[in-house]
Amino acid sequence: MNQKVPDQYIKIPHTVRLLYRYAAGPYMARFCKELRENKRLVANRCPRCRRILFPPRISCPDCMVRAADEWVEVGPGGTLLFFAELGRPGIDTRTGEVQELPASYACLIQPDGVLIGQGCFSHWLKVENPEKLREGMRVEPVFKEERRLGTLEDILYYVPVEE
Ligand SMILES: [Zn+2]
Repeated sequence: MNQKVPDQYIKIPHTVRLLYRYAAGPYMARFCKELRENKRLVANRCPRCRRILFPPRISCPDCMVRAADEWVEVGPGGTLLFFAELGRPGIDTRTGEVQELPASYACLIQPDGVLIGQGCFSHWLKVENPEKLREGMRVEPVFKEERRLGTLEDILYYVPVEE
């Protein structure tokens, strides 16, 4: 099939702003409230297998039973699982605009109290001494002074804890 490809595409920059409300549900709402108001990360526990569910959710993905309202605090510090140095500013996925990054590394964090493979998250990592950076080291969060959302975006970045 011979399909004609245009020589040049016309590019018309346009940002669509959609304002909407997101119903987090009772489990994620508690997570957001604890993070925003108390700088705490919380999870809930499966009543059958005792697995920590992070982020908290209504049912255990292993047992398929409704999760109990047994809440536990995890993190907010944790273990650095992976990191990558970033070489350029990022693109805000919501607006498409180029923005300066809050830190020069991206990383994957396993919060304290959550088993490997049962809940980790990506975040920024601010590094003063790159030569001391290694996987498995402890990291601690730096929260935004004014937390608005109650999501992980209210953490400015993580910093390595040098021993
Ligand atoms: Zn379970």
